[in-house]
Amino acid sequence: MRDKPLDLTKEQRVIKSPRQIQELAFKLRSQGDSIGLVPTMGALHEGHLSLVRAAREENKAVIVSVFVNPGQFGPHEDFNSYPRNLEQDTQLALRAGADLIFAPAAADIYPDGYQNFVAPGPLAQGLCGAKRPGHFRGVCTVVLKLLQLTAASRAYFGQKDAQQLRVIQQMAKDFDLEAQIKGLPIVREADGLALSSRNIYLNEEERQQSTILFQSLRLAQDLIAAGQRETNTISRQIKQHINQAPLARLDYLEIVDWADLQPLKQLTGQILIALAVYFGATRLIDNIILDA
Ligand code: AMP
Repeated sequence: MRDKPLDLTKEQRVIKSPRQIQELAFKLRSQGDSIGLVPTMGALHEGHLSLVRAAREENKAVIVSVFVNPGQFGPHEDFNSYPRNLEQDTQLALRAGADLIFAPAAADIYPDGYQNFVAPGPLAQGLCGAKRPGHFRGVCTVVLKLLQLTAASRAYFGQKDAQQLRVIQQMAKDFDLEAQIKGLPIVREADGLALSSRNIYLNEEERQQSTILFQSLRLAQDLIAAGQRETNTISRQIKQHINQAPLARLDYLEIVDWADLQPLKQLTGQILIALAVYFGATRLIDNIILDA
């Protein structure tokens, strides 16, 4: 049995006040305990829980933040309908090894008079950044605040949001943040669909066709394994494949260098193939990182 850094009841493990979590976090750090942070927007699934378990392995205390961050949603996106269930999230997170759930209100994170936002650089410009203006500004701002409030030694992110991972790694480097940024593999359903809190929006038919994202990434992987290095050819084949799902509407497909996220004509080194596909109003993303 791991030793628990905090002797608290279940109710005491859910903290809403930023000042309270910060006080507790500073106390833990001052007594030499490491803290792992798993930032989430809730509606927790096995993808999130894989991050919690990794944090559990490496830190004395684990904080899971549950915050649907208004700052990272566009005006016509799903902020209002985003699934929220703090009671269930708390149970799942605690069971997976979290010590504390930090679930602040938006007004506590962005109080009246709030003024400052992180302006992310070129890594945030392409891919999802191009399709969701302001998204990474919102993500970086909230992650920076969460790292400050939880005094995290390490913070855990999924490769599911690959661009987010790179953007945050760069922010941590540029701002000399203490927290180590960790990226973990994508957790998928048995048929390949990447787990996402948004998958519940899909109707039965859309759910069936949603496997097209992973299938098309596998197709690209096979082409590359067979020696194909022309981005145009791979892109064309992926697009043709996605067109076979009548309900799928491609938002973007990008084949980029994993380090700088810039488009590649010829594949070399570590590459990221990332795509976003709409099924009705539901936007799904997926990606694969490969050594070409
Ligand atoms: P979200 O709640 O969607 O903001 O996600 C919180 C964290 O969980 C992010 O770092 C995501 O990349 C990660 N995550 C979401 N889905 C998955 C998944 N299927 N596999 C691994 N990590 C995931």
